[in-house]
Amino acid sequence: MGDLIRQPARRRFVLVVAALLVFTGLADRVTAADAGIPKNIIILFADGAAPVQWDFGRRSSELLRKQSFATTDVMFREGTLGLLSTQPHGPYVTDSAAAASAMSTGYKVVNGAVSITPDGKPQKTLMQAAKAAGKRIGLVTTATVYDATPAAFAVNARSRRDSQVLVDLLADLQPDVLMGGGAEYFLPASVAGGKRKDGRDVMAAFRAAGHDVVRDIDGLKAAKGNRLLGLFALEDMDFEIDRDPKQQPSTAEMAAAALRALSKDSPEGFVLLVENENTDTAGHANDAPALMRALWAFDDAVKVALEFQRRNPNTLLIVTGDHETGGFSPTYAQKDLSSLSGSNRFTADDEQFRMLERVSMSLGRLREHLGKKPDSEVLDPLLAKHFPGLRFDDDLRALLLGGKTVERNFTYVPQNLLGRMIARQTGFYWGTSGHTSEPVAVGAIGPGARLFHGFQDNTDFGRHLHRLVGSK
Ligand SMILES: [Zn+2]
Repeated sequence: MGDLIRQPARRRFVLVVAALLVFTGLADRVTAADAGIPKNIIILFADGAAPVQWDFGRRSSELLRKQSFATTDVMFREGTLGLLSTQPHGPYVTDSAAAASAMSTGYKVVNGAVSITPDGKPQKTLMQAAKAAGKRIGLVTTATVYDATPAAFAVNARSRRDSQVLVDLLADLQPDVLMGGGAEYFLPASVAGGKRKDGRDVMAAFRAAGHDVVRDIDGLKAAKGNRLLGLFALEDMDFEIDRDPKQQPSTAEMAAAALRALSKDSPEGFVLLVENENTDTAGHANDAPALMRALWAFDDAVKVALEFQRRNPNTLLIVTGDHETGGFSPTYAQKDLSSLSGSNRFTADDEQFRMLERVSMSLGRLREHLGKKPDSEVLDPLLAKHFPGLRFDDDLRALLLGGKTVERNFTYVPQNLLGRMIARQTGFYWGTSGHTSEPVAVGAIGPGARLFHGFQDNTDFGRHLHRLVGSK
């Protein structure tokens, strides 16, 4: 330091800047070895959730259920916080398959592809890498187990739409734990609820490989083995707001069961992905009340995983999403269009959160009740019962009854019209029924967490994970 002081002022400045650059440069290039190597990795994944969703979860949980929101209050506040850009190969806005492929393999793919790059090459998925490293693997979702996210973290396929092919690939991979919906592609068409054209019973194949095969919450509670196939619905599992807790487990209950099974007999540790897909589907529908309940259900699973991480500190816990869905915009609105003055205005506030809380049905479930030809006689009693205090304006009603939409980027009809009804009276607006380009947040706690610091690309996320499981 003495030498430095004797230098002329300008030279001294250059030296200090150079020293700072070297220092911060080193700090930014954290290697996997510096950051630590975890034995277990748990990734909690809320599809369609970006910072605006997380903060909505935080505020609503704090206000309405008097509970902290572990994603923001623990993972983001106490852990390492990063942001990921989400652009796929090609266009600016990603789908869930391309986003999960990038996060699973470290490579960009086109929308719809499942961990296969544009040159036709299958890239090693996170679960394939983990299995090759001797780790146990688990995939849990509220969607079908072969939906875009779990599929891209596990297997390679040209299209996310080939459900039967994806189930076959999952059966080949043999995850130690596989839980969610989608039973129909595990059963032959000859069996009630089955859809497979080749007559194969994939459930029986899993049972033969040593899995406990369970179909409801009681079965899940009774399962005691270290391998588990849980299929709780023929298609997607229910939204949290509609879920019958006597039938289907919550995201937290599935996460706890997965951790119980995977941590048995696992000298090399495990990699577990737990996804809540309802956060994305609620965004597509512009369904703020269902989104709120889905975020709380997801956060309950974060709390289960944090508890596991505290007891097993050699576990890396990551909470993230893949992209934003819906262009969610809590904001203000005029009470009506009679005046644009400030006195005729309200802003999303505590009372508006309480209006969301009083809603007791998802817009998707309401659509099922309405059927293909909606009429007011079915609609109005459902609105009165499940959407108390919300008025359905004439312009929106006319569009709904006519099967029309309000704008070209709102294609979930009638859900988006009912979402607009909620928005007009609560200020919880939406910009689209699709995905947006908003970067997603990553919170990480445990060995390796520091790798996820700062603004990165979603392919960096995948590359870090491969290094941490020792495959690259
Ligand atoms: Zn989506």
